[in-house]
Amino acid sequence: MVNSSGWKSRTRAVHGGARRSQYGEMAEAMYLTQGFAYPDAASAEARFVKSGADEFIYARYGNPTVAVFEERIASLEGCEDAFATASGMAAVSGALLALCQAGDHVVASRALFGSCLYVLEDVLGRYGVEVEFVDGTDLAQWQAAIRADTKLVFLESVSNPTLEVIDLPSVIEIAHKAGALVVVDNVFATPVFSRAAEHGADIIVYSATKHIDGQGRCLGGVILGSRELIRGKIEPYMKHTGGAMSPFNAWMLLSGLTTLELRVKAQAASAQAIAEALAGHAAVSNVLFPGLPAHPQHALAQAIMGGPGTVLAMDLKGGKTAAFAFMDALEIVLISNNLGDARSIATHPATTTHQRLPEDQKALLGITDGLIRLSVGLEDTGDLLADLQAALASV
Ligand SMILES: *Cc1c(COP(=O)(O)O)cnc(C)c1O
Repeated sequence: MVNSSGWKSRTRAVHGGARRSQYGEMAEAMYLTQGFAYPDAASAEARFVKSGADEFIYARYGNPTVAVFEERIASLEGCEDAFATASGMAAVSGALLALCQAGDHVVASRALFGSCLYVLEDVLGRYGVEVEFVDGTDLAQWQAAIRADTKLVFLESVSNPTLEVIDLPSVIEIAHKAGALVVVDNVFATPVFSRAAEHGADIIVYSATKHIDGQGRCLGGVILGSRELIRGKIEPYMKHTGGAMSPFNAWMLLSGLTTLELRVKAQAASAQAIAEALAGHAAVSNVLFPGLPAHPQHALAQAIMGGPGTVLAMDLKGGKTAAFAFMDALEIVLISNNLGDARSIATHPATTTHQRLPEDQKALLGITDGLIRLSVGLEDTGDLLADLQAALASV
């Protein structure tokens, strides 16, 4: 196992966590095995009492290929440890269920990915956890909602789909004063621009399906934090409930991590150029992107994140009719609901990802009928702009 502690992020992205078998393979070995054989009965007993580094028992608990992924992402995020999961939602639900019990009080920001909202509202509620929602951008609401007995705070550091940026250092300070743990769903910040660990987040979760794979190939997720929390609370819950990452997916996600920084920085630069070019377009009433000076949390985003992200949103003046006409006219940008992919993607949240929400909730979150979420990919920026402008002109 390599010691990557002195390396810069791009070196860690390529070599972090690497182990080589006796064959000295270049690429990470893919250990497609569900279990492991022991040299003798006493070794099996010893491993069940306490397994050392690189001693595995069963792939639901851990696997050599998955371990390389966990170590590499932990090193990139600046966390002591990580547990890889089958999907982003396995990470979110695993983190919340591992840390909460009946009678606990949880405070969460209201602007959440639909499935996160389901876990908080429907699942935790069913098991006797009291969940209170606040406007994540309003520190006074966090201050008022977080109580001495609050167990946990949950938020998306940059919200989906309206790209609100939460003042992470301040929310963490309020939560920690009350003794509450802070769990951050950090998908939109990406491991490249995230400083959540530096700001003191206790648990950071990613859907690796998004930028970490970044090529639309597989599902994955990861829960990151201190060794004490990951091995003491998260691992026991995850290994017995079954949301483990497959070794094949870990192998693909490792190649994703290798190029993550290069891809995300290129995508963010394109997103910045596109946001600037479309702001003020006659067919668009508003462009939402943390990299634009007009964004309500522009200064905050610059202060607490390493970059603006790769996703922007825009509100078309003609509502749903205009939004659908715009999407149908796109030739390069695909209509889908993923994000962080090498292929640019347009999404109409009101009728797809956020369809389930009642109208008043949509209004509260700024999910209008004209809102388009645009995940900027790796195509040529000029080609993308030409595609977007031609589609806007046809509205
Ligand atoms: C996609 C997403 C998830 C869920 O991830 P899956 O890999 O699809 O399970 C959770 N949170 C956010 C913010 C997301 O964008």
